[in-house]
Amino acid sequence: MKLFKKIFRVIVTFLLVIILLVVISLSASFTSCLDEITITEETELRTEEEVTEATTEEATEEPTTIEEETTEETEETTEEEISEVPKKETAYVKRVIDGDTIEVDLNGKVYKVRYIGINSPEYNQPFGDEATQANSSLVSGKTVILEKDVSETDKYGRLLRYVYVGNLFVNAHLVKFGWAQAATYPPDVKYSSYFVSLEREARENNEGCWFIPEETEEEPPPAEEEPPAPTKMFVGSKKSDVYHYSNCRYVKMIKPENIIWFSSVEDARNHGYRPCKVCKPPG
Ligand SMILES: [Zn+2]
Repeated sequence: MKLFKKIFRVIVTFLLVIILLVVISLSASFTSCLDEITITEETELRTEEEVTEATTEEATEEPTTIEEETTEETEETTEEEISEVPKKETAYVKRVIDGDTIEVDLNGKVYKVRYIGINSPEYNQPFGDEATQANSSLVSGKTVILEKDVSETDKYGRLLRYVYVGNLFVNAHLVKFGWAQAATYPPDVKYSSYFVSLEREARENNEGCWFIPEETEEEPPPAEEEPPAPTKMFVGSKKSDVYHYSNCRYVKMIKPENIIWFSSVEDARNHGYRPCKVCKPPG
């Protein structure tokens, strides 16, 4: 009996120990489970941190790219400096070729300059003469500031430039008043969206060339126009070879010092002038 009791005690103790062990191991696994959760959370947090870091890296990467670009630009500038062509140059306008091209004297050399980002009608196209005249009224005989974008020249070897007379941005002015269209030729696109908005404005206001569609319908016939003074029958600009009725819209663009009056068609013709295609004076 005593032996039996002893065995029973041992078994009970053994069972208790086992139960204890099981309980311990369970609690341990539970703790480790908790740990795992914590670890997972930490990992997630870390992942978030990594993402934040990555974003920060990306964010810092961009300025790096810009820096690189800046470096490139600086290099370009250095190249320009080497070839002695600074980003902004002062030049004297020798000749106005058409609405978007001039000939300048730059540092004692003669260059053709093609305005960037715009396109004017050619001399043989409708409004070509008027566009030339508009350009001429802005820059003829003037000292201009030339600003480069990316390209130095076009395929014809003409300097590609933005042109300023004092504070007047010539390229923009010509688009705004309908004497040129916005024309985007990458990579020289610095002001392209500005030119596009100016062109829209010009179209809406029927400025310059955009006057074409309504010209035949709305332009009053010359006979109905106010009769000009007999001695001042027709008017032209010294900078062009076109004569107008005095109330023609293009006359307003002629500078007072360039105005030349003709008493008759013969008078105008004798001076080598021809009739305006818009106000259509006789001739
Ligand atoms: Zn006219």
